[in-house]
Amino acid sequence: MNAPLPPPLVVAGNDAASTLAGRLRQAVAGDVMFDAASRGRYATDASIYQVDPIGVVVPRSHDDVRAAVDVCRELGVPILPRGAGSSQCGQTVGAALVIDASKHLAGIGAFDRDTMTITVEPGVVLDRLNAVLRPHGVWFPVDVSTSAQATIGGMAGNNSCGSRSIRYGNMVHNVAAIDALLSDGTEARLARVGDMRGAPPRVRTLVDGLAAIGAREHDEIARQVPKVLRRVGGYNIDVFNPQSERPYTADGSVNLAHLLVGSEGTLAWSRALTLALSPLPRHRTLGVVNFPTLYRAMQCAEAIVTLGPTAVELVDRTMIDLARGNPAFRPTIDAALIGEPDAILLVEFAGDDREAAVAQLARLAELMGERGLPGSVVAMTDAGAQKALWDVRKAGLNIMMSMKGDGKPVSFIEDCAVPLAHLADYVERLTRVFAKHGTRGTWYAHASVGTLHVRPILDMRRDGAAKMRAIAEEASAIVREYKGAFSGEHGDGLVRSEWVAWQFGPRLTRAFEEIKALFDPAGLMNPGKIVHATKMDDAALFRFPPAYRVVPIAPALDWSAWNVHNDPVAGTVTASGSGGDPAGGFAKAVEMCNNNGHCRKFDAGTMCPSYRATRDEQHLTRGRANTLRLAVSGQLGPDALASPAVREALDLCVSCKGCRRECPTGVDMAKMKIEALYQWQRAHALPLRDRLVAALPRWAPYAARLPGLANLRNRSPWLATLAERRAGIARQRSLPAWRRDTFLRDARVDAADADVVLFVDTFTNYFEPENARAALTVLDAARRRVAIARPAPGDAEPARPLCCGRTYLAAGRVDEARREARRMVAALLPPVTRGATIVGLEPACLLSLRDEYRVLGLGDAAQALSSRALLIEEFLAREHAAGRLALPLRALPEKRALLHGHCHQKAFDALEATRAVLAMVPGLAVDVVESSCCGMAGSFGYDAAHYDVSMRMAELSLLPAVRAAAADTLIVADGTSCRHQIADGTRGTAPRTAEHVVRVLARALQPSDPARATAS
Ligand SMILES: Cc1cc2nc3c(=O)[nH]c(=O)nc-3n(C[C@H](O)[C@H](O)[C@H](O)COP(=O)(O)OP(=O)(O)OC[C@H]3O[C@@H](n4cnc5c(N)ncnc54)[C@H](O)[C@@H]3O)c2cc1C
Ligand code: SF4
Ligand code: SF4
Repeated sequence: MNAPLPPPLVVAGNDAASTLAGRLRQAVAGDVMFDAASRGRYATDASIYQVDPIGVVVPRSHDDVRAAVDVCRELGVPILPRGAGSSQCGQTVGAALVIDASKHLAGIGAFDRDTMTITVEPGVVLDRLNAVLRPHGVWFPVDVSTSAQATIGGMAGNNSCGSRSIRYGNMVHNVAAIDALLSDGTEARLARVGDMRGAPPRVRTLVDGLAAIGAREHDEIARQVPKVLRRVGGYNIDVFNPQSERPYTADGSVNLAHLLVGSEGTLAWSRALTLALSPLPRHRTLGVVNFPTLYRAMQCAEAIVTLGPTAVELVDRTMIDLARGNPAFRPTIDAALIGEPDAILLVEFAGDDREAAVAQLARLAELMGERGLPGSVVAMTDAGAQKALWDVRKAGLNIMMSMKGDGKPVSFIEDCAVPLAHLADYVERLTRVFAKHGTRGTWYAHASVGTLHVRPILDMRRDGAAKMRAIAEEASAIVREYKGAFSGEHGDGLVRSEWVAWQFGPRLTRAFEEIKALFDPAGLMNPGKIVHATKMDDAALFRFPPAYRVVPIAPALDWSAWNVHNDPVAGTVTASGSGGDPAGGFAKAVEMCNNNGHCRKFDAGTMCPSYRATRDEQHLTRGRANTLRLAVSGQLGPDALASPAVREALDLCVSCKGCRRECPTGVDMAKMKIEALYQWQRAHALPLRDRLVAALPRWAPYAARLPGLANLRNRSPWLATLAERRAGIARQRSLPAWRRDTFLRDARVDAADADVVLFVDTFTNYFEPENARAALTVLDAARRRVAIARPAPGDAEPARPLCCGRTYLAAGRVDEARREARRMVAALLPPVTRGATIVGLEPACLLSLRDEYRVLGLGDAAQALSSRALLIEEFLAREHAAGRLALPLRALPEKRALLHGHCHQKAFDALEATRAVLAMVPGLAVDVVESSCCGMAGSFGYDAAHYDVSMRMAELSLLPAVRAAAADTLIVADGTSCRHQIADGTRGTAPRTAEHVVRVLARALQPSDPARATAS
């Protein structure tokens, strides 16, 4: 038998790394990255750890993987496989060559209905796979919460488990075979041992060696391996003597693929995975059981499970309160509550027979009656209501994760699993442990299988490490007493590998080392995980070690709201600005990213368009936040905030604000980009194009006087090429056309007692004045007294129109933006103080009053302005909902409208208002495009260097939807740049023009309406 291995190999030194980089660049077609920022972006996952990898390879094909493994083997370099990097335990963190499968290795084979299997490459994301399978009426049912990010390779690596594991089991129960590449270059198909008879000698030796270990340890396996379903720690040595509540194979046969499942990349690279599929249930029902105490909820879980639910999920009082505090979620959560419960259990039943699923709800209610809780169940049969409630549970967790300050919920005992009979006592005892250590936790998740997620709040920069160990030790003692599993969902990684010996005993630990040596004799695969482990509290591995320091900077924006301390027990935070951040709160805002990887999603919402187009970690919100964190903490060298590495990471950020709304912890990269650009342009000259765009409000009045000349560039290909060479403006683009008939030039005299002030932004005024005229028409028809926003008396530039300052913000010219903002505040504060509403048309401009103006240091006046600034559609929708709007609208010839939301509309929840306003037009059906950013994003898409990626963003969903729309469908887009992108992207065979919602409304107004006749 092979001897256990020494601790992992590590390649140190620049020479070794550059030899490796050189060899890889010769051998691999995909990306090879060895620069500090790229390595830094792969130094973390959703755990508390950070270790710089030696380098990163993003292979284009399996040939690349094989070549990289060959080079590593020759040079003795460790190898770290990676998918989405959403592991919570540090599985994907290590001093190794990271091989990232998520970008290119995402092929999906054909669905085999006979065997109910499918074979996929490791980088396939679960949601994408299930979208492909849905039309066949089947799915891959390991429905992890990270389904929009998690790759099948990573899910297998971690033996992941979904909410419905009680019905479908864990990953290990749903993988049929794995085609693996071993570190010695052997390719092996691991499957049922009976199917591996013709394997080559190296693989036979492996199989025989493993079988011998299995036979030798038969009794020890029975003694040491926990019997619960949710046990994912160590290697699945119980393939040789099944211990799980649910057998891994139906016929008791040994499948060696199951040994790779949960091995966290320590045994082999998974090249292709054959997955067992399940029929999609046709119907689901949901019963919400209301409990007076968390303890009672846990006490009842075991009985509820006997009814055969597909999921039993816990939501505790803290989560209920968080959800109720959010106006968007309150109605949904209130509909699920009876009185003031301390906890609720979401009990789901599913099947093909609707009546049976409904009948289960009645049985649930009966059961609760028998348990002394009559009338405690809210029954939900409607799919929409069920989904809304599941979404609330997810959002509640997100709010918890968004805690400001250095104390953060830390995942290390988050997934201990205990038999259901002990669940209630386990919760009670662990709560006491937390209190003893001056912290608390919030409970949620999978009551059905005895796995409750809980993260105590710890400050890893101060006393967190000591508390973590103390709590882990006390928790482990309780878990052992109840014969549970210390690692019930998230795996071992860096945080729990040292607990493998504790869980499985010295004999099996040695057997694990032997298994590792059989697969990976040189010890190259993901060293330090599962076997030969480091200590969980080794501060040298922490992302925020006690030595972590922030480099002082004078920020341009006000970040003080993040600069706080929190008290985990009281749940309070100190006053803004008191957190001791030498970067004025900017560092703490950046540090909010906990690397959970939610921004890698492709499904709904906006975040993150640049990642959707490139699939590069660098162009992901997480990649950017990590780059900024490394920069502000001096880990990328001096003055790194103004370094090319930071600029490159932010280059493709389109400032869509998608992350502001959709990132669970509220990372607001658009604002951070402004700050970083500000720091950049203090040290470097801005390119000509950026300077031109930034100063647009200053030179626009002159250009508008000679529109013919200004528009020449659009008519002359020669000038377009020159403009690209000199100013970097993409020659393929048309530029917005200057107009002589600007809106403000001859806008009418204002109503003195206006209740609405129309702010006409630079773009609307100079390029699309008809939109402002339409807005005036609509507001007049709505019988509002309207004034046009103009510079205040005493303004230093009375003749120059007001501007929100957005173009300056986009270039990081915060001082100039602040000057524009001051003009706005001076002009608009008097009507606001009088009670008037400020209404605007361009989302990017108007919404900056509600967003950036709050952090420009303009005091209470800006806050007052921000509280009364609305997009025109928000204003109309609000008035309509309040019964104060009677627009005389008639049907239009067009019967459908396709609505594309501007990213900032979505970020500020204003898209629903646009939809509602369009729906006021009689007989007009409104479809909303499920689109992310249009790709134009202000001036982003005009930049020659951005043209391709801009068009790729547009082609992801917006342009295909527009092209597919019938010729008589109205295309509605409220953003100037979105409309331009639609026009540019459909030029050629079937040009389409999008219009602002006010243009649609103005056209739909009754012609007889006298107000309309007088306007524009
Ligand atoms: C907010 C949040 C919620 C979560 N919810 C759940 C949940 O409900 N259930 C659950 O089980 N987990 C959950 N997780 C943990 C994590 O998301 C899952 O384990 C997920 O399946 C990991 O997928 P990944 O692509 O991110 O893998 P990664 O983190 O990239 O990798 C996971 C492991 O697999 C290995 N690996 C990756 N690719 C390969 C390959 N090609 N060959 C060999 N080894 C490979 C890696 O080395 C690593 O050890 C959650 C995490 C977060 C942050
Ligand atoms: S940016 Fe937000 S969504 Fe992305 S990893 Fe960080 S915390 Fe998660
Ligand atoms: S602002 Fe938009 S593009 Fe930039 S990181 Fe956030 S989601 Fe991505």
